[in-house]
Amino acid sequence: MVAKFDLHIHSNYSDGKATPALMVEAAESQGLEAVAVTDHGPDLSVGIKRADIPRVIEDVRRAGKGLKVKVLLGFETNVVNEFGAIDIDDSVIEQIDFLTMGIHYISGATEPNEVAKVYLKSAISAIDKNQIDIFAHPFFLHGPLLPHLAPEEIGRFVRLAAERGTAMEINVKYRAPDEDFLRLCLREGVRLSVGSDAHWPEEVGKVDWALEVLERIGAKKEDLVLDSFL
Ligand SMILES: [Zn+2]
Ligand SMILES: [Zn+2]
Repeated sequence: MVAKFDLHIHSNYSDGKATPALMVEAAESQGLEAVAVTDHGPDLSVGIKRADIPRVIEDVRRAGKGLKVKVLLGFETNVVNEFGAIDIDDSVIEQIDFLTMGIHYISGATEPNEVAKVYLKSAISAIDKNQIDIFAHPFFLHGPLLPHLAPEEIGRFVRLAAERGTAMEINVKYRAPDEDFLRLCLREGVRLSVGSDAHWPEEVGKVDWALEVLERIGAKKEDLVLDSFL
């Protein structure tokens, strides 16, 4: 069994319902090895305000002091267009432990097949242009998108992620991505992460489903992204 960790939670700096300190306290009481506060980037309507970024950095660093759980700081940056632009600046990235990217909206497509194509293009461009450590809820946008993509396209994407060192998240909230995709990631040397996507303290560290998935697909400690942040 791999260690319990949760690298995707939101505080009330974005759409979470509690302060970073309370979210981190919940992680401590769950006995997690590590937890990461990863608020949404400012381009999302519920995302953090740019002016608040220095404050959340300070709050999370302070919240982690004196606890057993290792407290990490990231952001869930938005991919703002299909050319891979993101909404967290380099000057902020220098001050955090890792950068997660999420695709929460895409423009100009409504049919699932089209949505999947634009989503894939956005993801490829973002990973190509930026140093993205973790891809949150990959290929889930209002539903699973992988069934709408060709195996060759998915294979090319996974090989790019391996090359660029971008890990794929197993997201407990959306129960995504599917195990075939995760097995492909393991075969190609893409590391995996675990995120509850908690917005409430009670949801922090509730990652048993992801740990079961990791066990079923035969992932080992060295397949997980955690060690590189500790
Ligand atoms: Zn997200
Ligand atoms: Zn999230």
